[in-house]
Amino acid sequence: MYLGEKLIKREPFRWGIVGGGKTSQVGYKHRLGAMRDNTSFLLTAAAFDVDAERCREFGVSLGMDADRCYPDYKTMFEEEAKREDGIEVVDVATPNFLHYEVTKAALEAGLHVICEKPLFFEAEQGEEIKKLAEEKGKIVAVTYGFSGFDLLSQMRSMVLNGDIGEVTMVDLRYAHGFACDPTGDKQAEGQKWRVDPAKSGPSFVLGDLSTHTFYMSELICPQLKLKQLLCDRQSFIKSRAPLEDNAYVLMRYENGAVGRMWASAVNAGDMSSQHIRIVGTKASLEWNDMHPDELYYEVQGQPRQTLVRAMDYLNPEALEYERLGALHYTGLIDSWSNLYKRFAVVMDAKDRGDEETVKNVIYPDLEHGIDGIKWINACAESADKGAVWVQV
Ligand code: NAD
Repeated sequence: MYLGEKLIKREPFRWGIVGGGKTSQVGYKHRLGAMRDNTSFLLTAAAFDVDAERCREFGVSLGMDADRCYPDYKTMFEEEAKREDGIEVVDVATPNFLHYEVTKAALEAGLHVICEKPLFFEAEQGEEIKKLAEEKGKIVAVTYGFSGFDLLSQMRSMVLNGDIGEVTMVDLRYAHGFACDPTGDKQAEGQKWRVDPAKSGPSFVLGDLSTHTFYMSELICPQLKLKQLLCDRQSFIKSRAPLEDNAYVLMRYENGAVGRMWASAVNAGDMSSQHIRIVGTKASLEWNDMHPDELYYEVQGQPRQTLVRAMDYLNPEALEYERLGALHYTGLIDSWSNLYKRFAVVMDAKDRGDEETVKNVIYPDLEHGIDGIKWINACAESADKGAVWVQV
C-alpha cells in the first residue's frame, strides 16, 4: 500500500496554475489533488483569475508570494522563465476556449502541462500540440478527474485478464440534473461560458460530462477501438441551442462490440450519477461514482459479488496507489479535513481571545476526549464485574 509516500526521485515539481481561482468550480480539486501528499507538486506561481486583484488576494490568502501571483499567464511564463526557481509544470484550469493557447504557450516556455478537459476544440490542434510536446520533450496530461478511483484499475485488470470473457457491450452514463434550471446560464460565472459556443466549444454536456466517462471506458477496455458512432442531441432549454443539454450516443467498436452513452445536465433529480457497466460473454462489471468503493462483479448464473476498495483480494493494479487502507472509505479524508479546519478555527480564535467563537465551534474537544476515557473504563469495569450496571 502506498500511504502517500514520495514516488518521484526528486524534490516536488514547482507548479503553477492558470485559472482555478477563488470562485472557480475546479481550482480546489487541482490544488488538493496535486498537493495532498506534499511530495509531488508545490504551488509556486499562479495566474488564477481573469481579475488580477482577485488573483493576488487569493494567492496571498493561500500563503503564496504576492509577486508570483500574476495578472495573466503570459506574464507568468515570462517572469518565471527568468528565475532559477521558476515553475516547471503548469495547470490549465480555465474555461475551455483558452486550453489550446495556454498549453501551446506553456510548451513553448518549456513547461510540462496538466490541462483540463475537454482538451481543445479541434483534433488538429491536439496533433499540433502533440508534435510540439515531442519536440520540447514535455508531457501534456489531461485531468479526467474521476479516472483515478482504484476500482477502475481493478476493472481494467479484470477485463484484460479475461475475467468477464470477451467484452460485448459498454454502457456509459453521466447524466445529472444540475442544469434543469436555466437561471444559472445568465448569472453563474461557471455556467455562462459553458452554454456559449465561443467559450465552451462545439458542445455542452458532451464535452463537459461525457468526455470523462468516455475516457474511463478507454481506461477500462484499452483493447476496444471506437469505429463509428451515432449521436442524437437536444437543447431542452431552448436558449442553449445550438449546444445540447442532453445527448444519446450509440457506438460501434472495431471488434464488433457495441456501446451507448447518455450524457445530460437536465436529468432532473439525479445528483451525480456516473455509471459504467462493461458486459462480457461470461460476466459483467458495474461501477458508479456515488459508491466508488464498490465494484459489482456479476457472473452469469451466480450471485452478484461486491468487490470492495483496498481489500487484499484485489489485483495489484487496484492497490498500487491506495492510500487509506481497508475499512477507511474514500470520502474519509473529507471528514479529516473538516476536523482539521475546525481545529485551526478554534485555535486561532483562542489566540485572539475570541471566546464566543471558541464556545461555538463544534469539534471533539478535551471534554470529549475525557468522556472517551470514562466510557472505556466504565465498560471494562462493568464487563469485569460480570456485565453489571456501573456508574459513569
Ligand atoms: P469556472 O468558470 O468556475 O472557473 C474558471 C476560472 O478560470 C475562474 O477562476 C476564472 O477567473 C479563471 N479564468 C478565466 N479566464 C482566465 C484567464 N484568461 N486567465 C486566467 N484565469 C482565467 O470554471 P470551472 O468549472 O472551474 O472550469 C474550468 C475548467 O475546468 C473547464 O475547462 C472545465 O471543463 C473544467 N472542469 C473540469 C472538471 C473535472 O472534473 N476535471 C470539473 C469542473 C470543471
